[in-house]
Amino acid sequence: MAHVCWQCGEELSRSHTGYLCDDCQGKQLKKMITDDEDLVDAEGYAAMLGLDSAEQLRRIARDGKLAPRIPAIKQWRWRRKDIEAWFKQKQRAGDVFRKTAMGIASNLRTCRYDSVICSSLSDTIEDRVYGVEPILGTTASGRFELIELVPVDKSVALNLLKQLPKEEFPELIGIIDWADLTYDKINEDFIVRLEAYF
Ligand SMILES: [Zn+2]
Repeated sequence: MAHVCWQCGEELSRSHTGYLCDDCQGKQLKKMITDDEDLVDAEGYAAMLGLDSAEQLRRIARDGKLAPRIPAIKQWRWRRKDIEAWFKQKQRAGDVFRKTAMGIASNLRTCRYDSVICSSLSDTIEDRVYGVEPILGTTASGRFELIELVPVDKSVALNLLKQLPKEEFPELIGIIDWADLTYDKINEDFIVRLEAYF
């Protein structure tokens, strides 16, 4: 099937990216500028992210970590409102992950350092990590009774587990459910890294 420009129908080469030919791309961009759309180029976007160069931005773009560019044109241009909407969406996702990571970290700490709950380092933490129900542990005053853990949404927590880079969290290599973590992998250093990640 021939690959043609959506605007003028001109045939495009196989290697051409975008839906428009070079001429139509140029015209579309010019129109957006004359229509006074607030456009941001790669340097501008890099600056918004606190990066030093457009080259760093291109590296991030390869991982798909940027707002979508203006469709149909292959240039490194964005509408400012698209970037802002992207930021907001990322922020919301970040907030959910942060809350979940903090909940998991708290439960890891409570279970790992409570001598009643953690009796053997080779045991797995099991569903306690999700704080589903109160468990028998040690209170601040040293009594044995039911203590509350932080309830954590399991599906978000599993998603979080997938997102965390295993180079930074080697404890999680081969782990597909937080419940499978053994106590010997859980230590203060790991917990602090988790709390600080988001
Ligand atoms: Zn065209």
